[in-house]
Amino acid sequence: MQGSNWLNDYELSCAFQHLEFPILGTPINMAVTVALTQMENSQWWSADKIKEVQFKQLYQVITHAIHTVPHYKTIPLPKSPEELLNNWYDIPVLERGDIGGEGENLVSTKPPKGHGKITTQFTSGSTGQPIGVKNTELSRIFWRAFTTRDHIWHQRDPKWKLGHIRVAKKGQAEYPGTKGMGWGSLKGKDALIKTGPIAGLNINATVEQHAEWLMRANPEFLITYPSIIQRLAEYCLKKGLRPTNLQQVETISEVMTDKVRALCHDAFGVKIVDLYSTRELGYLGLQCPENNHYHVQSEGVYLEVVDEEGKMCPPGLPGKILVTPLHNFAMPLIRYAVGDYGVMGQPCSCGRGLPVLKSILGRERNRLRKPDGSYRWIAISAKGYGELLSIAPIREYQIIQVSLNQLEINFAVEEDLSPEQCDKISDWAQNQLHFPGEIIVKSHRELERSSNGKLELFKSLID
Ligand SMILES: [Zn+2]
Repeated sequence: MQGSNWLNDYELSCAFQHLEFPILGTPINMAVTVALTQMENSQWWSADKIKEVQFKQLYQVITHAIHTVPHYKTIPLPKSPEELLNNWYDIPVLERGDIGGEGENLVSTKPPKGHGKITTQFTSGSTGQPIGVKNTELSRIFWRAFTTRDHIWHQRDPKWKLGHIRVAKKGQAEYPGTKGMGWGSLKGKDALIKTGPIAGLNINATVEQHAEWLMRANPEFLITYPSIIQRLAEYCLKKGLRPTNLQQVETISEVMTDKVRALCHDAFGVKIVDLYSTRELGYLGLQCPENNHYHVQSEGVYLEVVDEEGKMCPPGLPGKILVTPLHNFAMPLIRYAVGDYGVMGQPCSCGRGLPVLKSILGRERNRLRKPDGSYRWIAISAKGYGELLSIAPIREYQIIQVSLNQLEINFAVEEDLSPEQCDKISDWAQNQLHFPGEIIVKSHRELERSSNGKLELFKSLID
């Protein structure tokens, strides 16, 4: 595929009246197009060349951070990208728990004006530490370039119908599901390329409903979670159901296994493409078009897999994943521990110079058991995390299911929560978790971690 021109394969959305040829999009979409066109080349560069340009960009982020971000002002200022590379391990790892709340200390006092409007994304990742990460228009341009790269790599036809079984609040995308036009949240001229219809369904529908929806909506392309595709594939195999249009499944958020890949192939005759991204950091790894491992998206992030001392693990050895986004100048995160563990691999047979992430360990999405025995996926919205942080400066949280009728939520806070705050949080939790049983709120200075050092967002004592 080297040297192919992706623009020939897609129909761009036109932003101008009376313009048939050549097509031009909105300024933002033209910026995405230019980024993507350069990335079409850079993916084939040697690993050394990629690292060299990454350090030129990292040098920009880090000198900006030292000058304008309180948290980083004590880091020695490197004189050049080469010096930064040589002293890289002197920069301390940033743990999620160090950020705390909205992380004012990490926000730049002088974000570059030209990088566009700043927005805040609230999230808790997989580790139960709610944070708000600020981002600029510039980082969102790269986000969209990677979304499109994923479509190009996996040869998706933009005319396909996209089916999406997703985490959504109660009342949203409930069975029998939603219908619309265009795959993303952007429509018409705001979208980069013209895409086909979309059908959506709430993850918390039953497996019977998921299967009925899949047969009825009959999408070419399905996006969901590994645990959902596993449950759906097992059910469809047992019932002899096989959707006729399905061409490809994409999975997000949880650990993908060979077993689930094989099951999906048995049930639906299609391959799974897995994706590694987080709300606050963007795309970290895309699955290789030719292999089941991931390529680090080095044009957007510098990703490391490190040992206890924060030094690089050799390929094949598991370690903590650290990420430094290359274009976030509103709230630079440097050597940020995402909360996942990973294993780097040897250079890829496909010829791309983008580093290989062989596997990702420890991602999980959690299932809550309701008093009637049914399951519900915990789906706290970005807005929900924002509301929680407005009640109290929560550093970390963990939900423990003590029994079918009782949840305990432990919070790490500097000062004990007041009875009013506890009441508010209890109401908040009832509302977010849709758990009809009792919810007990407790304050702690520190939360207990599992043996690998990871804080489990959700623990069940009943399964
Ligand atoms: Zn590859």
